[in-house]
Amino acid sequence: MEYINARARRLKPSETLAVKAKATELKAKGIPVIDLSTGEPDIDTPEHIKEGARKALKDGKTKYTDVMGIKELREAIALKLKRENGIEAEVSTVIVTNGGKQALQSAFEVTLEPGDEVVIPAPYWVSYIPMVEIPGGKPVIARSSPENGFKLSVKELEAALTPRTKAVIINSPSNPTGAAYTQAELSAFADVLARTNAFIISDEIYEKVVYGDFKFVSTVQAMPQLKDRIVTINGFSKAYSMTGWRVGYATGPKDVIAAMGRLQSQTTSNVCSIAQYAALAALTGPQDAIPQMVKNFDRRLNAALGIIEQTPGLRVMGKPQGAFYLFIRFAELAKNSKSEVVKSSGALVNFLLERAGVAAVPGEAFGDDQAFRISVAAADEQVIGGLEKIRDAVRTLL
Ligand code: PMP
Ligand code: GLU
Repeated sequence: MEYINARARRLKPSETLAVKAKATELKAKGIPVIDLSTGEPDIDTPEHIKEGARKALKDGKTKYTDVMGIKELREAIALKLKRENGIEAEVSTVIVTNGGKQALQSAFEVTLEPGDEVVIPAPYWVSYIPMVEIPGGKPVIARSSPENGFKLSVKELEAALTPRTKAVIINSPSNPTGAAYTQAELSAFADVLARTNAFIISDEIYEKVVYGDFKFVSTVQAMPQLKDRIVTINGFSKAYSMTGWRVGYATGPKDVIAAMGRLQSQTTSNVCSIAQYAALAALTGPQDAIPQMVKNFDRRLNAALGIIEQTPGLRVMGKPQGAFYLFIRFAELAKNSKSEVVKSSGALVNFLLERAGVAAVPGEAFGDDQAFRISVAAADEQVIGGLEKIRDAVRTLL
């Protein structure tokens, strides 16, 4: 008897988390591994945020909270959205979720009918496709070209839209490529989307991690004419190094957020009360850990890019404008090497783990089988040492 339903049989584990688990297992066996797989900031959660949690515990904030999240946190989020993102959110249109991940999943769950199409720009973050498929939606991949720095063009977006398009995902800055859209680029998308009924899911989790003079703009701010059909997703994992606390949030049309609240009330009830108070401390406390963290990422990105330049066959399509990954293409290596391991990103990543002792994520998980992703959210010596080992291993393939 098969008890697992067809949807769950098709469901694969998140590849980013699977690679991390494999690297951790090898390390536990005493095998040295430089883990550049999962994207989580290497710094500890800042002290004032932990203090917020300690105080909540001491004050007995240990009971169920409002399903949508504690009022103080939702007020602080609404204020942040207004001040920083030009989003006129009310407390009633903010929901606190178990990470940005649950906010995304819940938004798809309450909006998609079986067969509804969702446009996903590629390369995409690993979890978008399964998240759309779980409620029966149909992912439609919009391919951006490496030559355009992996930014989707208006034409590429247009080509993916059909009368069945229910939603379009925008993830700027992007995981895995670091490509990020300017106000003008988003505004050009808006002109096209205004001719459809599609709603937009804007994943802004890397908002605070941007480099040089790139200016982050929220999708709502860039597309004011479409603001009533944009769901904005954000969270505390990346900006505040709170990946384990599991706090994210969404804001958007009243009916969508209310439906997400009904779903939450029947499933998870609420986010851990202590974690919500910690998130409140994150938003209301000092913000100076963020620029320091971003400066560290920037320094490591520059060092890593220098090493990749000396590695024949590997290429990054320009420096990322945001997030903390390098999406490294090996198309040239695949052309010039006779080795079996360049035939797929999975094989190359396995080779890098075995030969170089470095864990990376295969590009196939992000929709590009001629690439792999490394994270620079690891100590300088890990990033630099890891890239040098990758360089030396890749040279043996030529
Ligand atoms: N969106 C993107 C693009 C991400 O990279 C992540 C990281 N896991 C998330 C959403 C969700 O993060 P979390 O659930 O930790 O908030
Ligand atoms: N977003 C991070 C990554 O892509 C964390 C792991 C995950 O949730 O996928 O590596």
